[in-house]
Amino acid sequence: MSRAGTILRVDLATEKVEKEATSAYVQDFVGGGAIGAKLIWDGVPPDVSGKDPKNMLTFNTGPLTGTLFGNKCEVMAKSPQLANSPVMTAGLGGQFASEMKFAGYDHLAITGKADEPVYLFINDENVEIRDAKHLWGLDTQQTQVRIKEELKDPDVQIACIGLAGENQNVYAMILHDIQNTASREGFGAVMGSKNLKAVAVRGTKGLKAGDPEACKDLWNEFFSEIKEGRGSLFARLSFREGIAAHIGDYGKFRDRGAWGYYESFVAPPMKKEETMADFVTKYKVHNVGCSFCPIQCQQNYNMPGVDTGGGACMFYEGYRYLVKSHDTTLWWRASAKAQRYGIEVNSIANITGWLMLLYEKGLITVEDTDGVPMEWGSEEAVMTVIDKVSKAEGFGKLFVDGAVPAAKVIAGGKGLGLLNQDRNRLSGAWHVGMGSRRTVMLGGPGASRLTRWANQTVFMHPMHTDMEGIIPWYARELGISNEESEKLIQGWASEWTEKQVGDRDAWRPESVRKKGAYLAASENAISACDISGHCDFLSDRGPHFGAQRVGVEETVQWISATTGTLCTKDMLLDAVQRKRLLEIAYNQLCDLSRAEEEVSYVKALDPVPDGYHKGDAIDLERSVEPGAEYCSRRGCDPATGLPLREELERLGLGDVAIRLGPLLAGPAPEAPSPQSAT
Ligand code: SF4
Repeated sequence: MSRAGTILRVDLATEKVEKEATSAYVQDFVGGGAIGAKLIWDGVPPDVSGKDPKNMLTFNTGPLTGTLFGNKCEVMAKSPQLANSPVMTAGLGGQFASEMKFAGYDHLAITGKADEPVYLFINDENVEIRDAKHLWGLDTQQTQVRIKEELKDPDVQIACIGLAGENQNVYAMILHDIQNTASREGFGAVMGSKNLKAVAVRGTKGLKAGDPEACKDLWNEFFSEIKEGRGSLFARLSFREGIAAHIGDYGKFRDRGAWGYYESFVAPPMKKEETMADFVTKYKVHNVGCSFCPIQCQQNYNMPGVDTGGGACMFYEGYRYLVKSHDTTLWWRASAKAQRYGIEVNSIANITGWLMLLYEKGLITVEDTDGVPMEWGSEEAVMTVIDKVSKAEGFGKLFVDGAVPAAKVIAGGKGLGLLNQDRNRLSGAWHVGMGSRRTVMLGGPGASRLTRWANQTVFMHPMHTDMEGIIPWYARELGISNEESEKLIQGWASEWTEKQVGDRDAWRPESVRKKGAYLAASENAISACDISGHCDFLSDRGPHFGAQRVGVEETVQWISATTGTLCTKDMLLDAVQRKRLLEIAYNQLCDLSRAEEEVSYVKALDPVPDGYHKGDAIDLERSVEPGAEYCSRRGCDPATGLPLREELERLGLGDVAIRLGPLLAGPAPEAPSPQSAT
């Protein structure tokens, strides 16, 4: 019940299609990326690179996906963004994941490389690998239209790549519909490396609720929270002005914007026509979002003469601040183009901003960028970078394997230290300001989306873009002053933090006490959503938008009601723990050590030279104590960041302990003698 029951495995090289029961995994791993991590742990040798055909691209739904309570899947694979290709995850919403469930599949695991471009068509029981030569070269929207026409079915749900994925650029994303993306880990390049243009799914089976009455009651409760409770504040913001408004029009971020090194940049006051609210009023067609979600937090825009498409807050951030432009036309032009090419908007904006910084400093000239001056805010520069990088043409070729390899060549390597990056991963716009300096890695080995988010939340939480952005919005909605609104939102953050770690102040950026415990609690809350298929925007996880109330306690009730099988808080949190320890252990075997991760941030440790954050600096010493606390909460050795043997054994992950072998502290258990094994 509410589980489709099957894991679908497809090998594109041999065209072999296999189906396996999900039931073998659910007791220990529940669903989502926890099962995804297990599939990769069992099936992909750590020395396989992100673009190697042996890499396994997985789409992992949870027990709530396809029900009223959820619609997400976690895409998971070895990422080509880092040289040692650790396992990483990216969420994908929309209708795709629900459709997978309706077709009968909880998980999809794709390995191998097709000889020529193909797309996968999953139509209930029928699984076909179809020719995609005629689709190669099409953009992400054209691809979806053509496949729907070809299959004569407008309801087929498609996740695909554009030119950036075909060219295996490590910032290529997977796009579904107009605005849903698995954007952050270079999974578009993984698809391209498999000659896989798209996955199309059509499911007609639906799902049955285990306990329909309980589902109805729980849904009514959840829905009235969104309609009338605290959650309605976020819902109203999303619906009326779009999430981007809270960043662009309300947040301090608006006029204290920062720029990578960036803190010096202070945006001028915006005119009305430069605000996001104005853009939304003029160009929003309607709200869009994921299946069954009552919030529909994203927008479909149509700007005559430019393009139609979908937008979310991230795009807006990237193209306003990273290239120093407040022209909403440029913001939309650039984002729409990047989405059609299937290149992640913040990464390409970050690359552009970095080139502009080098140009300003005289480290590059037009000779380095195919004759185009990289001037701040220049439309020609912005569009050229998107074109060249996505098509792997001219100087854009240098970025195929990422910004770090490119930065080692461009300007003779002199610009490397100016790159707002974590190894080869460009930081998103949300890292700007103190984010880029405070994102000190405490999480031990493992570079999942989860780790990054959780680490950001350690020193920034609730993120400035959120908290500072929602203060005036909630004040307006509630008819209170900004000061009262700030107090209220901070009270919600303290309420959650006290419940999780017994300290009301652990969320505060300046606080170190209980910070490690707070990090682990934030990870648990996010991961519980991801594993179950619920959207973490709608959860209480370290109150992202300050307002939600529902958390792990409610999630397990939903899982129990939808599956008809009891799921307890301990069971769900143990599944989270298994997922994290599998990721940590696997990435250690990929040689991603904790020390290496920390080194990547050293460049961001100098005090901020000027601007709003002048003088702010990271004190690494202060991270030692929370780092050790985090490790002990996570069941890891503070000295190495590696899982403790006894924790692995408690969770039934003895095979992980055996594979980590001598890397683990403490004596290994004696191997059973042949006699005792019989
Ligand atoms: S709130 Fe979450 S589930 Fe709802 S539309 Fe937005 S991303 Fe999708």
